[in-house]
Amino acid sequence: MSLKLLDITREIGIVTYDYPFGDYEVHEGFRGKPHYEYEKCIGCAACAIACPPNAINVSYLKDEDKSKWEFDCGRCIFCARCEEVCPTGAIYLTKEFENSVRFNKEDLLQIGELEVVRCRVCNKPFTTKRLINYVIERLEKTRVVMNEEKIELLHTCPECKKNQAVEQFTKSVRYGGFK
Ligand code: SF4
Ligand code: SF4
Repeated sequence: MSLKLLDITREIGIVTYDYPFGDYEVHEGFRGKPHYEYEKCIGCAACAIACPPNAINVSYLKDEDKSKWEFDCGRCIFCARCEEVCPTGAIYLTKEFENSVRFNKEDLLQIGELEVVRCRVCNKPFTTKRLINYVIERLEKTRVVMNEEKIELLHTCPECKKNQAVEQFTKSVRYGGFK
């Protein structure tokens, strides 16, 4: 029996790895630690909205007038939703699986700060400069002519846009322009 086992073992070969003394090659499609490319990030927050365990958070830094993108690998479940929704490829999963840190949990964080844009009507910060530039670039690619009115609209926060729409509608009803 033991000789037969020896034969089988010889036939199959080595099936274990030397890891952690040697390298360990993960399989294709392995979902490891997400990688963030600050230069590509436009601060749209799609990843933060899609992330099930809230491992990504996008907030506004009031004192510095900046938007802060923050990823906590300690909360990540490696589902790749962030990669799926990111419009610019700024976040994607890698094959990295050695995610533990020694003493400092801060080492699990990745942070990016982006310049914010304030609403031209109410002056509240509501988006990032990169996001506005991205939208303009995309619209121009679809041959939309970006006139002053459209640029102004892009620099108006959703709340003020809503108020303006209600105001216009009310005026049109009051002065009989509404049909
Ligand atoms: S892989 Fe999943 S859990 Fe991790 S940051 Fe992306 S969306 Fe969140
Ligand atoms: S979805 Fe991509 S571009 Fe948008 S905030 Fe997340 S990482 Fe940045």
